[in-house]
Amino acid sequence: MQVYLPYPDPQFGAIREHMGIAENLEQVRQRLAQAQREYGRDAESVRLLAVSKTKPVQALQTAIDSGQRAFGENYLQEALDKIEYFAGTELEWHFIGPIQSNKTRAIAEHFDWVHSVDRLKIARRLSEQRPPGCAPLNLCIQVNVDDESSKSGCRLEALPELVAAINELPNIRLRGLMAIPRPSDTESEQRKPFRQLAEALAQLRQSGYELDTLSMGMSADLEAAVAEGSTLVRIGTDIFGARDKPATG
Ligand SMILES: *Cc1c(COP(=O)(O)O)cnc(C)c1O
Repeated sequence: MQVYLPYPDPQFGAIREHMGIAENLEQVRQRLAQAQREYGRDAESVRLLAVSKTKPVQALQTAIDSGQRAFGENYLQEALDKIEYFAGTELEWHFIGPIQSNKTRAIAEHFDWVHSVDRLKIARRLSEQRPPGCAPLNLCIQVNVDDESSKSGCRLEALPELVAAINELPNIRLRGLMAIPRPSDTESEQRKPFRQLAEALAQLRQSGYELDTLSMGMSADLEAAVAEGSTLVRIGTDIFGARDKPATG
């Protein structure tokens, strides 16, 4: 099991390993700026979420020192350790991993955003368990844009009903849609599922929902996502390097 040391390890391997993160982050910011220009998007219209799952606190600290404030995590216990470690720092925490019902309380208590809700039951629990005095939990519905191939995510046909129900929950602020399309090699292939998601959001907005977030785009398909209207890209590998197998579930 990986330990999240509060300071660099005695071997200084941690320091060496994390030296490239500031440079990587700057490169990703430039890629994002370039994609916004290329596809006629307003500058700064796409937020950068740094996906730090499996990475130790030193890696996050380097990103924080380089100005990054929003972090995405998939594994609850690991995320809670990091949130506690950085308690004195003004950061924004996004839960982006699969959610079991027994994990909703900790998510409702400690996160600012959750991107991976695909069932009403989970959204209801998050609303009920959001502590009084906290701002509403920002929520994106994960949509299955590939149908048969991936198991998680609400199917497009079921979206209007789920949106209507979640939109009524008192301690939730429904912000938009999220997707993780199956990987494809060419940018034009990558753009298709993103376009579907963007069209789904546009339809919901036409129906009167005030949604402002399209959470789409990862290291391999950032440009395709920006081209199709992403407002938030979730980047892990290209900032922090390749991941080992997750240490915690
Ligand atoms: C891991 C993960 C990412 C980051 O993926 P990279 O390819 O490493 O950029 C983005 N979104 C979700 C939901 C993830 O689980």
